[in-house]
Amino acid sequence: MIERLVGFDTTSANSNLNLIVFAAEWLESCGARVRLTHDETSQKANLFATLGPYDKAGVILSGHTDVVPVDGQAWSSDPFRLEERSGRLFGRGTADMKGFLGLCLALAPDFAARDLAVPVHFALSYDEEIGCVGVRRLIKDLDHLPVKPALCLVGEPTGMAVIGGHKGKRSVRGTVLGKQGHSALNHRGVNAVEIAAEIVAFLRGLQRRLREQGPFDAGFDPPYSTIHVGSISGGTALNIVPASCRFEFEIRDLPEDDSDALMAEIRAFAVSLVPEMLAVDEASGILLDEYNSTNGLVCRADDPAVRLALTLTGSETVQKVAYTTEAGLFASAGIPSVVCGPGHIAQAHKPDEFIEIEQIRLGEAFLRRLMDAVDAGGAFPGLLKSEREGVASDAE
Ligand SMILES: [Zn+2]
Repeated sequence: MIERLVGFDTTSANSNLNLIVFAAEWLESCGARVRLTHDETSQKANLFATLGPYDKAGVILSGHTDVVPVDGQAWSSDPFRLEERSGRLFGRGTADMKGFLGLCLALAPDFAARDLAVPVHFALSYDEEIGCVGVRRLIKDLDHLPVKPALCLVGEPTGMAVIGGHKGKRSVRGTVLGKQGHSALNHRGVNAVEIAAEIVAFLRGLQRRLREQGPFDAGFDPPYSTIHVGSISGGTALNIVPASCRFEFEIRDLPEDDSDALMAEIRAFAVSLVPEMLAVDEASGILLDEYNSTNGLVCRADDPAVRLALTLTGSETVQKVAYTTEAGLFASAGIPSVVCGPGHIAQAHKPDEFIEIEQIRLGEAFLRRLMDAVDAGGAFPGLLKSEREGVASDAE
């Protein structure tokens, strides 16, 4: 199954429909109810499939179908053809996260063969790698269910560690519109590059303050919110006052930080630069366009998703990671969520991405224990009990 999924080139720039249609047919053949939500181009879709009783609160198994590009990466083998070498499966997406999706799909017939006390949902999203774009539509569409799912397991590669917290992320595009002119007469121009540089320097100062003064959360590496400028471009020649400059930055905020306040501080600084620009040219200005944001994940110790993942993995510790996942969005929608999946993030997004077969085995064992937990006569009859009771009282 992993080989099949890797074979679909679902780089975020491409359509993911071939994979989605394949998965939909497969899950339907297992008896699942399947629902697709498309993007505005109809070239990409999320899949949401349900096995078991539709009117009960169940468990979502969630993963994204898209992968990062292979452009400019030196691969030892075809990235879209699974290759097994020395206990590892190589291919784009093996770790992030077609290994997990492959396991879920391969085990769907086994889930279907059980007497499921609560439903198991399969949530496959598009465009996660470009800012958790697709899953937002899938989450909105969950209103079609008669009952809200009890919890969500996001199978991003954590080496099967239980991740109960991650940072949030805000992505911002900055544009400085200045006024062109001869560099010898720079007092008649508005230098967009220099103004952008002042904002970049301000961001750097803010980062320094966060690093030195916090807030801190020792569960994260690094233990403070980060601010990073990823790109900048502007200007055409040394003797021309540059008319425009564009840059991009992000804030990855700790759950205990107030990223709204940070953004407000950044905007206030940008606004303070504007009068001097307007004095030279009324058409000049600064745009800060926040084009994407993903909520952080903060799980309490008694979170049902955390408790389930700890039981299924046999682990006693809950960890935190710096990168964002779709779990933050599910949790914000009121569905307790945790991140736990096979493979390691360190092997993702790189040439010769791989997943160890041992990790696949651990992932399979995890899903088989979940099977017992959701089975009416299974080995963990009480595990999801409190969630079921919670649902009964919700329905009343
Ligand atoms: Zn991923």
